[in-house]
Amino acid sequence: MQTAKSIIVRGRVQGVGFRPFIFGLASDYNIVGTVQNNMDGVSIIAEGDINSLDKFINAIQTRLPRLAKIYEYIVRDNELAGFENFSIIESSKSGTSSLVIPIDASICPDCSEELLNKDNKRYNYPFINCTQCGPRYSIISALPYDRPYTSMENFKMCADCREEYDNPLDRRHHAQPNACEICGPKYELYRIDGTLIEGNIVEHVAELIKSGNIVAIKGIGGYHLVCDATNESVVNKLRQRKNRPSKPLAIMAKNIDEINKICSFNIKERDLLQSIESPIVLLNKRSDSNIIAESVAPNLSQLGVMMPYTPFHVLLFNENNIKYLVMTSANPSGLPMLYKDCEAFTYLNNIADYIVSNNREILHAIDDSVVQVIESSASIIRRARGYVPEPITTQSSCDSIIALGSQQKNTFSIGRNSQIFIGPHIGDLNSVEVYNHFLSEFNHLNKWMGVNPMKIAIDLHPSFTTNELAKEFSGEIVKIQHHHAHLVSCMVDNNIRDENVIGIILDGTGYGTDGNIWGFEILEGNEGSFERLAHLRYTNLPGGDKSIIEPWKNAVGMLYSLLGERGKNYSKKLFKDQSDTINIICNMIDKNLNSPLAGTCGRLFDAVASILGVCTKATYDGEAAIILSNLADLNLINQIESYSYDILNEDNLFIIDFSSCLERIIEDKFNNVSNEYIATMFHQTVVNSIIDTIILLDKIDSKIVLSGGSFHNPYLLLGVKSKLNKLGFEVYSHRNIPTNDGGLSLGQLVIASKL
Ligand code: ZN
Ligand code: ZN
Ligand code: FE
Repeated sequence: MQTAKSIIVRGRVQGVGFRPFIFGLASDYNIVGTVQNNMDGVSIIAEGDINSLDKFINAIQTRLPRLAKIYEYIVRDNELAGFENFSIIESSKSGTSSLVIPIDASICPDCSEELLNKDNKRYNYPFINCTQCGPRYSIISALPYDRPYTSMENFKMCADCREEYDNPLDRRHHAQPNACEICGPKYELYRIDGTLIEGNIVEHVAELIKSGNIVAIKGIGGYHLVCDATNESVVNKLRQRKNRPSKPLAIMAKNIDEINKICSFNIKERDLLQSIESPIVLLNKRSDSNIIAESVAPNLSQLGVMMPYTPFHVLLFNENNIKYLVMTSANPSGLPMLYKDCEAFTYLNNIADYIVSNNREILHAIDDSVVQVIESSASIIRRARGYVPEPITTQSSCDSIIALGSQQKNTFSIGRNSQIFIGPHIGDLNSVEVYNHFLSEFNHLNKWMGVNPMKIAIDLHPSFTTNELAKEFSGEIVKIQHHHAHLVSCMVDNNIRDENVIGIILDGTGYGTDGNIWGFEILEGNEGSFERLAHLRYTNLPGGDKSIIEPWKNAVGMLYSLLGERGKNYSKKLFKDQSDTINIICNMIDKNLNSPLAGTCGRLFDAVASILGVCTKATYDGEAAIILSNLADLNLINQIESYSYDILNEDNLFIIDFSSCLERIIEDKFNNVSNEYIATMFHQTVVNSIIDTIILLDKIDSKIVLSGGSFHNPYLLLGVKSKLNKLGFEVYSHRNIPTNDGGLSLGQLVIASKL
C-alpha cells in the first residue's frame, strides 16, 4: 500500500550534496516525491510502500554524506499526491531562516584517490574538491554560498567542470570551488626574493624541505611555515627566525601508521585525526621514539599532530621521504595568521627561504583547530578551521545580541534567532593589528547574519580591549563577570537550562566584582545571576599582569603575602641571585604599590613551577602550568596523599589557603625530593582542597560544571570529576566549546540574553 510522509531535516544539509543524496536513496528504495531546500533546511515529500518508506527514512540518517550533519529530523504523515517520479525542485523561501555557513573540510577519500590516479583528469591537481570536501568558510565573500560570492568567482569553469557542476547526480553538483587544471587556480613557487621557480612544484618543495630549507606554504586558512620535523638544526633555525624559543610546534604526518611510530593514540584520537575537521590533536609522545626532533616540543610529553588535509599536502607527503613536517601558522609574533598574498613576502622575509603561493584568494584567515582527548572525551583547545562557524542552537532567543569575548584567546559570538555563531579564534587583543582583525572578521560574519546588535556583552575588566571595541557599536553595553561567563558557557555546552548549578572555575585571570583578580572560584549560579561561595586566598601579585611572564616574581609575592618574613627568606633561598629584586617586591607589597590582590589557579601553578625551578620565565601563555602538568603522574590520580591546606569560613565565604602546602613543597624541594613527586602531590592537593570545599558547602543535589583554562590539565579534570562522581554529583565539563577563554563569548551572550 502506498503511504506518504513529509520529512523536515535541519542542520548542515545545504551545500553538502544532500539533495542528490536523497535523490539517489529515493531511486534505491523506489520512492517518488520531491526534495527541496528551504530557508531552514531541507524538506522532503516521499511516497512509497510502507516498508520501503521506513527503510528510506532510516537510511537518510544512517547513510548521510560525509559533510552533512542533522540537528533536527521531523517525520509526519502526509496526504497521497500520487507523484510519478522523484525530483529535486526549486528552493523555497519559506520557513524562519536558520543559517548554516559551510565549514572548511579536509580532502575526502574519493578526491584523494582521483588526485593520485594517473588516469584521472585531476591527477596531481592540487585544488581538487567536491561537495564533500574542500574550502568553504575561508573563501566566502557573501551569502548565499554560491560561486559568484566566493574567491572562485574569477575562475570560469570549463565545459567539463560545468557539466559536473550542473548534474544533480554528480558528486561535484554545486561544489562551488569545483575546478581542474584547465580552468582552476594554480600554485607557484618563489624564492623569498620574489624569483619564480619553474618546474614541478611539489617535487621541488620536497627537495627543498629535505635539504633543510624553511618553506612557507599557502593552505586553506593562511600560510604555514613548513620544515623537516626530523631535522633538529632546521627546527632550531625556525625557532630563532620566528623568535619563538620554546612554544611547541605542531607537526603534520604522512598517515596514521607514521603517527603510530611517534605517538600513541586511542580510537577517539584516531577518529579526530581523520575527521573532516582534521584538527591538530595533542598526543602522547612515545618515549622510545626519537624520530621527531626534540626541539619541536621541548620538555613536553605531548606533541600536536595533524594529518594532510589539502590536496597539496597529500601530494607533498606522496613524495619519497616526506613523513613528518613541522607545520606552524606563519604569523608574525602576536599578530593574526598571515593569509594575504601581498603581505607574505614582506612578513616572511628573514623567516622563510621559499614561498609556495596560489591564486585562489583566502578571504578569511582561519587557524588550525587544536583538540585534546582526556580519557575518551574530546575537548577543544582552539576552535577554528573545521568547527567555525558551526552554530550552537539555544532554546531561547538570543537575537541581536553580540558578545566580544576575552582579552586572551579571543573569540566573539553573534546571536541570531535561537542560533549563536562563535567566530574564529582571533588571538590576544594586544595590538592594533589584532584589533582590526577582530573588526574585519566580526563585520564579515555579522554581514552574513544581518544582525543589528542591540546588546553588546563584554567582560567586566576595566582595561580589556573589548571596552574599546564595544564603542564601535551603538547598542546597549552589558558587563559580564568573567567566571560567571565561564559557568554559563559550560552549562550551554551541556544543554543545561534554567536551573542553578555549582561552578568550579579554575583559570588564569578574571576581574572580580570586588575589583580583585579571581581565578580559583566556586560559584553557584544560572544564566541570570551568580553568587560566589569559595575562592583561593588572595595574595599580592607584584607588577600585576606583568608578573605572568615572570612566574618567579609571583612566587615571591605569594610567599611573602602568605608567610611574611619567613616567605621572604624562602624566596631568597629559592631565587639566589635575586635578593635585591626580592627586597623591592616585598617593599612594593608593604606599601601596597602596583601589587593587586589575586587568587587564581594559573598564578598558583606559576608559583609552584618556579619554586621547582622548572619555569621561572614564561615565553608563551600557560607555559609554567603546562610544564608542571607534564610532571604530574596521571597514574596516581586520587591514589596519592596530598599536602596540607586550610579551608576557612570568613563571612560566609570559604577561603582556601595553600600556605602550608607551599611551605611543604619548599621543604621537599630543599630535601631533594623529585619534581615529579612534588608536582603530583601538588596536583592532588588542588583536587582535594576543591572536593573538601564542595563537601563543606553541602549542596548535595546540585549539578556541577567545570570550566576555565586550568581544566585542560588532565590531572585536575579527571581528579575532580571522579571524586565528585563518587560523592554522587552529576559533573559536566566542556565538549564542543573551549574550556579556556575561547569559550567565554558564548557564556557572555547567553547571560546578556537574560538581562
Ligand atoms: Zn572530495
Ligand atoms: Zn575545469
Ligand atoms: Fe578565563
